[in-house]
Amino acid sequence: MIRLLGYLGLLLLCFTVTASPTAAAKPDSEVVWKVDTDQKLVALTFDDGPNPVYTPAILDVLRQYDAKATFFVLGKRVLLYPEIAIREINEGHEIANHTFDHHFLKNVSPEILKQEIEQTREIIFEVTEQLPQVFRPPGGFYDKALLDLAREEKFTVVMWSWYQDTRDWKKPGVDKIVNTVRSNLHNGDIILFHDMEGDCSQTVEALKKLLPDLKQQGYQFVTVTDLISKVKKQPAS
Ligand code: ZN
Repeated sequence: MIRLLGYLGLLLLCFTVTASPTAAAKPDSEVVWKVDTDQKLVALTFDDGPNPVYTPAILDVLRQYDAKATFFVLGKRVLLYPEIAIREINEGHEIANHTFDHHFLKNVSPEILKQEIEQTREIIFEVTEQLPQVFRPPGGFYDKALLDLAREEKFTVVMWSWYQDTRDWKKPGVDKIVNTVRSNLHNGDIILFHDMEGDCSQTVEALKKLLPDLKQQGYQFVTVTDLISKVKKQPAS
């Protein structure tokens, strides 16, 4: 029995490591994980959408608190819900590329990933008339070839602040999501949420608690591209 539990535990660990968005490569200077700024600015990011029910609910909360966010969309879901992508743009948010079908880089060839990135960029442009400037690899997996592609195609690779992974996709409870963000918040953080397929109600409820509180503390919520533009200039040496 104990042996069986041990195997189960190992199996669970393997699954967690491979399936978790935190199973990312180590920080790299070409990849943005957070932004060094003196200003009380943070970036809310939402991956894997749009979701027909919960993305509009998220947009309602963002509008209520004058918050701008970045949506790392999947091309296939923009094709299903183009009107939501258009609403995101119309309300001042940023749309970013998260591939067409959410394959992890370790499971597909770089050529397939390149195709997916280009296909999704075209879909986003067709639907919203905006060209995405920012890309986040599914699961956070990247390699040198992907960074070379990013340089070639002039998009910025953006991850998330490692302590700001809310793991909302695991439905840990509203308070847990709120506490993850609130207990670790720093200027320039990039916070990871999901508006993926399925039930994202905990994410919506967490935002309803977080946004008024953080706004009262003086934080402003900006898109990733805006946040990057606010990076503190290093004094010339
Ligand atoms: Zn994702």
